[in-house]
Amino acid sequence: LTAELAALSGLPARTTDGAELNLYVNTGLAAEINRALEIGCAGVGLHRTEFPFMMRDRFPGEEEQASLYREVLSAFAPLPVTLRTLDVGGDKPLPYFPTHDENPFLGWRGLRMTLDHPEIFLTQLRAMLRASVGLDNLRLMFPMVTRVEEAEQAAALVARARAELAEEGVVTAPPQVGAMVEVPAAVYQAESLARRLDFLSVGSNDLAQYLLAVDRNNSRVASLYDELHPAVLRAVNEVAEAGRRVGRPVSVCGSMAGEPAVAPLLLAMGMEGLSMSSGRLLRVKWVIRTISAADARGMLTEALACETPQQVRQLVNSALDDHG
Ligand code: PEP
Ligand code: MG
Repeated sequence: LTAELAALSGLPARTTDGAELNLYVNTGLAAEINRALEIGCAGVGLHRTEFPFMMRDRFPGEEEQASLYREVLSAFAPLPVTLRTLDVGGDKPLPYFPTHDENPFLGWRGLRMTLDHPEIFLTQLRAMLRASVGLDNLRLMFPMVTRVEEAEQAAALVARARAELAEEGVVTAPPQVGAMVEVPAAVYQAESLARRLDFLSVGSNDLAQYLLAVDRNNSRVASLYDELHPAVLRAVNEVAEAGRRVGRPVSVCGSMAGEPAVAPLLLAMGMEGLSMSSGRLLRVKWVIRTISAADARGMLTEALACETPQQVRQLVNSALDDHG
């Protein structure tokens, strides 16, 4: 099977009836870049920028960040690379920047923190923009968007960073700018967010955690965490529909995107792309290439009518078995 999968590297993720899906990789560490380039992909759908911040004892400066971002942007150019702005707090604390949250997942994390500290945010945005000079494959993505104004403020800071750089003689192309949909409130405002931005990407890990009110790291309740809960599927489908209504691409970058059995459902929802760890990509591509979009749509209709995670699981697994 491994050789069979490896043979898919250069082939498109296209169904038997010609529907295509972009398969992106999630990156964060330098080692992940080479692995992704080996297997072939449509670009980077989620580059987590927090690791260098977590591994140091202070905030990395603009130069230092720019060279890190340049590495990933240039490795994949001309393919798009989606750099997510800093998402610390929650499960990713910074030792040198304590947030004193009693409940970190409902606290000062992601965009909330960076909007409160425009100097930290602008340093990162300037570094990202500078790294993109001459490559023009930068996409910027904001984590933990909860209110429309947050997306507007963040986009305004991107514009300000570009204007500052231009004044300094560094001319950058306007990047594509998007929001993660990972807070339930953003599902219900997906259309408003999409209208203001270039794209949306569903962060299904956090979205499931917040929809189900389950901390995955708490063993007492971890078994209740389930990305196949019908409520999660419906929420993800709503985001896809909202994007379609206003003509903006929607993708998924949580671990759901790397589940081969779930890929047909996400395809049928009309996702533009799926972003996953590189180890998952060829398996997902294999599934896409064995199904038809028409069958996937039928399966989605059934899945959206399911009332329990177990019913959804049976449905997607039996479809996968049918295709070997
Ligand atoms: C998510 O929440 O689904 C996601 C992709 O982001 P992270 O796992 O980094 O929180
Ligand atoms: Mg998240």
